[in-house]
Amino acid sequence: MAIFELWYNTPTLEKISENMELFDLIDGNNERFVNVIVDCIGIDDLLTYRIPEDIDIQIGDILSVPLGNRQVGAIALQICDTTQVTDTTTEIKSVIAVVSSGIFPKTYWEMLTLTADYYRTPLMQTIKTALPPKLLDQSHYRIKVKRENIIPEKQERESYKLPKAAQMVWEFLQEHQDNSKGISRRYIYQKLGRYTSSGLKELQKLAWIETILELPNRPKPKYEDIVILLKAPDSELTERQIEVLTILQHQGGECLKTQLYKLAKTTSSMVQNLADKGYLVISKQESLRLGGKSHTVTRDRPKDLNANQDAALQQILKAIADCHATHFLLHGVTGSGKTEVYLQAIAPVLESGKSALVLVPEIGLTPQLTDRFRARFGDAKVSVYHSQLSDGERFDTWRLMLAGEAQVVIGTRSAVFAPLSNLGLIVMDEEHDPSFKQDRPQPCYHARTIAIWRSQLENVPLILGSATPSAETLFAQKENNSIYLEMPNRIGNKPMPPIEIVDMRDEFKAGNYSILSRKLQEAIAEMLENKKQGILFIHRRGYSTFVSCRSCGYVAECPNCDVSLSYHDPINPTAHQPKSAHLRCHYCNYTQIQPKSCPQCGSPYFKHFGSGTQKVEQELAKLFPNIRLIRFDSDTTQNKDRHRLLIDQFRSGESDLLVGTQMLTKGLDIPQVTLVGVVSADGLLNFSDYRAGERAAQTLLQVAGRAGRGEEEGRVIMQTYTPEHPAIQAVQQYRLDEFMQTELAMREALSYPPKGQMVLIHLSSEQEQAVEKSAEELASYLRQLANNWDVLGATPAAITKVSNRYRWQILLKFAPEVLPDVPSLEELRMLVNSKAVRVAIDVDPLTIL
Ligand code: ADP
Ligand code: ZN
Ligand code: ZN
Repeated sequence: MAIFELWYNTPTLEKISENMELFDLIDGNNERFVNVIVDCIGIDDLLTYRIPEDIDIQIGDILSVPLGNRQVGAIALQICDTTQVTDTTTEIKSVIAVVSSGIFPKTYWEMLTLTADYYRTPLMQTIKTALPPKLLDQSHYRIKVKRENIIPEKQERESYKLPKAAQMVWEFLQEHQDNSKGISRRYIYQKLGRYTSSGLKELQKLAWIETILELPNRPKPKYEDIVILLKAPDSELTERQIEVLTILQHQGGECLKTQLYKLAKTTSSMVQNLADKGYLVISKQESLRLGGKSHTVTRDRPKDLNANQDAALQQILKAIADCHATHFLLHGVTGSGKTEVYLQAIAPVLESGKSALVLVPEIGLTPQLTDRFRARFGDAKVSVYHSQLSDGERFDTWRLMLAGEAQVVIGTRSAVFAPLSNLGLIVMDEEHDPSFKQDRPQPCYHARTIAIWRSQLENVPLILGSATPSAETLFAQKENNSIYLEMPNRIGNKPMPPIEIVDMRDEFKAGNYSILSRKLQEAIAEMLENKKQGILFIHRRGYSTFVSCRSCGYVAECPNCDVSLSYHDPINPTAHQPKSAHLRCHYCNYTQIQPKSCPQCGSPYFKHFGSGTQKVEQELAKLFPNIRLIRFDSDTTQNKDRHRLLIDQFRSGESDLLVGTQMLTKGLDIPQVTLVGVVSADGLLNFSDYRAGERAAQTLLQVAGRAGRGEEEGRVIMQTYTPEHPAIQAVQQYRLDEFMQTELAMREALSYPPKGQMVLIHLSSEQEQAVEKSAEELASYLRQLANNWDVLGATPAAITKVSNRYRWQILLKFAPEVLPDVPSLEELRMLVNSKAVRVAIDVDPLTIL
């Protein structure tokens, strides 16, 4: 099965499934049991129930089970025989009924089990990541009388024999039997209270009633009248009629009816009259809720594709039609029309009654993206799912997905678990983006890895789109049979903005001590004069842990490893940290005292680097007293509406310059932006991580891609102390491919991912000695296992102490084909066996800090 070999670095489904007996149905004539998760907050274990003979249960079915004296919702996860039931002390209760079958995709639980297994996390914890709590809440059930099961003569007699509770419920249902949709369980509960649960149970046993999971209704689309011009005005018409039609012509031949009334100061009889004469037509158009507000915009129609887009689309359409799990790398520069390709690939998926999943790094920042999907497919077909939804919104979105209609779900990382039952296509936009990897809590999954599994399990194509593909995807693309689709030009052959590099060492020599070079200052002044807008990018503050010389650009590096040393502050001295500022390697633990002057040129300006947004803001205010700034970083964009507000403000021209961090790289499409400045590229480059080069190049190219998207040409100015760095050189020439080939060669030499695999184990504790002891013992234990892996560490983490917890880590490194038996989170907890020490495990870590 060649397709499973696709993802070199990701264990194949087959390999993982070997040890998995989860989905084996045990046949036999004995009693059968089902392990379920119950949908109650606070219950973290699988519970076992007996399966009554007359009930047929499939994995993934939604069940009704007794819990204490309640009846709760549950999901069937494992079906097993007696021998697998470990708990023999308590009585095993029986399943009451199957509420719904076939709601989740068939392979859904297999995907979750793979995730749990691969990321070494307990299944329950994985399920909690995937599904919101209380999804199956009792209040969302309806009870329906099953007329067909009731023989009228018998029913009269039997209902008197029922226990009191059942009688009460039965009477209540009889009184309300007109309601064909059934009666809400919550309503019954309000009326009958504690009798409800046991009463329903009895009736369910008799099969007189059924319980239905109630799914919310989709918002109904709203429509408004629009007027479309059919024929140009001619001499047949009165002067006034010609006037009205000419106004319509000036609106591009199409506008809202109410808008035409206003513009032409006319009435409905006039418009109707023109329609009767055949000059125009009145038609209905969906009113869309764009950006949270209700807007009526012209429904967006598919664009005529250029040759590259069309070539890409045709291949994708073929895979969709064949239901083939083909993986595409859609490598298109920013503004090359990738989104348009996604839209046109999704249209036939929806038409065939299937759904599409679109994964994006950030939603709050790219409202335009969701707007484009809504404008193309209509509100009712598009759901948005991301972490900033309120609990209620999230819950409704999940339940809409369960409803099984053809739809597009646009979501961030966790939406990869969207329970869409009839999937036809998965798109992952900006596939290189690190936010697809979950940090905390476990499982530390990568949405790309899961998307690859999901595509294989459900036989749907997967499009990985990016202007700057990750090493993983490029490597898989090179080695295997995924399809490479290239779109090297911007739409309309708009040029990519030229990138100018400023050597900050020259600024220093010339006596300019400002963090803004003369060139960037001039460019900002010019931009202000021409009333254009700009973006100023600053690397994230937390990343500025390296030390460099402001005079010669020398960066302190580890003599043993190919990474820069990290600066450690003496503020929180520990037994392992010298009391003065020092530099440390996070891979081998090499440590040295921070030199007082540059080892290369002797300059005293050999310092810990950093230029936060605030500092830049102050500098700008000093240089350009009238400049209107918007600061855009995690401090200023805490809540979801704030993102949009700031971007909208900027878009509408209320500000000249957007100053911000990493967030600016994500899909911001503002045509007026002509200038992009990068305050210091070095913070990205010297990140003490083997991935620093790749990430720097990706980030810088993405930032550069924000310039010159409109009519005006763009300009990018990048400041750096190391203009000769290969990543900077590659970015300046827009030649990422060669750079990535060199990167891959380097990774191969050092067995770093994707040419090797890593697992990072974190330990932390409030007790310094306890965590050190645990970490060292665990490391030596893992070394003894000699599982074809290298055990690096234990070493203290880069930030040794966070919220009073001391942090250590152990890195396991092995060849990707090896797949050693890495202990699971539970096993690690047992090995560490200390209440004082917390353990976490990160498979395929993106950063090793
Ligand atoms: P990307 O996703 O690669 O950044 P987009 O799909 O956003 O690119 O396209 C950039 C711009 O070009 C958008 O405004 C889009 O509407 C427009 N566009 C895309 N494809 C076409 C096309 N075939 N013809 C005309 N305009 C297009
Ligand atoms: Zn120096
Ligand atoms: Zn080292």
